[in-house]
Amino acid sequence: MPLWFDFHAGGGDNQAVALARVDKLSQGKAKGNMRAIRLFEPGQPVKFQEIEVPHVGPKDVLVRVKAAGICHSDAHYRSGMTKSGPFPVTLGHEVAGVVEKIGSEVSSVHIEDRVCIHYLATCGQCHYCSQGFEQFCASVKMIGKFRDGGWADFIVMPERSVFLLPPEIPWEQGGILMCSSSTSLHALKKARLQGGETVAVFGIGGLGASAIQLAQALGAFRVYAVDIKPKKLELAERFGAIPVNAANNDPVREIRDLTHGRGVDVAVEVIGLPLTMRQAVQCLAPLGRAAIAGLSGGTFEIASYSELLGPETEIIGVSDHLAQEMPLLIEFARQGKLRLAEVITRIIPLDAGAINGTLDELDHYGDQVRTVVIP
Ligand SMILES: [Zn+2]
Ligand SMILES: [Zn+2]
Repeated sequence: MPLWFDFHAGGGDNQAVALARVDKLSQGKAKGNMRAIRLFEPGQPVKFQEIEVPHVGPKDVLVRVKAAGICHSDAHYRSGMTKSGPFPVTLGHEVAGVVEKIGSEVSSVHIEDRVCIHYLATCGQCHYCSQGFEQFCASVKMIGKFRDGGWADFIVMPERSVFLLPPEIPWEQGGILMCSSSTSLHALKKARLQGGETVAVFGIGGLGASAIQLAQALGAFRVYAVDIKPKKLELAERFGAIPVNAANNDPVREIRDLTHGRGVDVAVEVIGLPLTMRQAVQCLAPLGRAAIAGLSGGTFEIASYSELLGPETEIIGVSDHLAQEMPLLIEFARQGKLRLAEVITRIIPLDAGAINGTLDELDHYGDQVRTVVIP
């Protein structure tokens, strides 16, 4: 494993610290230290660094990471398209592992418990936290973005963000449950999906594959899956969705044809392109709801009367997910209603080169559905 010592401020103090660390590390991994893959500066590759195992406060849980997913958002943090920091920060927000240590006030989990981590660290007491909408907590910090995440040997998290992971769910699935699947569930909840309704999912990556299955678990009558990659459409079909290939056809027209002109009740957009956001709205039936969950800095236009006011459609923003949604999500996975094994297409070690390679692929919307780091 390469060691990395570029303290870029370059001042005398930093140099002294760097030399001291080289000395320490040359004797092998220093006691109380751990490996981490960190972002030092947006626009640069992530890098390996040996850092101290985090301190465990009275309400904290220290988790030994067993699996940490790589998400499209991570590529956005690395490129700088989405803000993160302060730097350096350890990335990785899809984390499952074993409880290594607990704070003096922690009671809901015990040492050696299998757990997965809701990626928001919150205060638990503010206006939004107390209403269960902790993603708007005044002091919210997402792991792997604004505080150290799971591409490391250990991660520390407030107790309320740590959930028991049943033994039926493998580590790597427990990890990706915590982002792609939970955001998909949040999108469907925000869209108020009812049993018997029809759903269109735009984008069959990690989120889309979960959205298809969760829509069915919540009672959707039929799910249409839109993508341009044949492999992803095949995957969607295996999950029971009706594939809609947008490579050569207009997916809006095709969904209208498949629904006898009516459109779908719920559309979920998880790609993050203005074009597909627009299509998600355009394929709605009257009273339909489009949940937009794909990250984009762009804008999209719709025809205000014919696509919004007239049919009384709704465009709903989806950001993150809620702790209160985790138990249902974990239970769907435990029961096999949410199958994630096929979604995980690659396992890699805790290695900066392998992780950067995966992020490069995500930058180019590669065929990989989901890569998971096993430290
Ligand atoms: Zn993610
Ligand atoms: Zn709060």
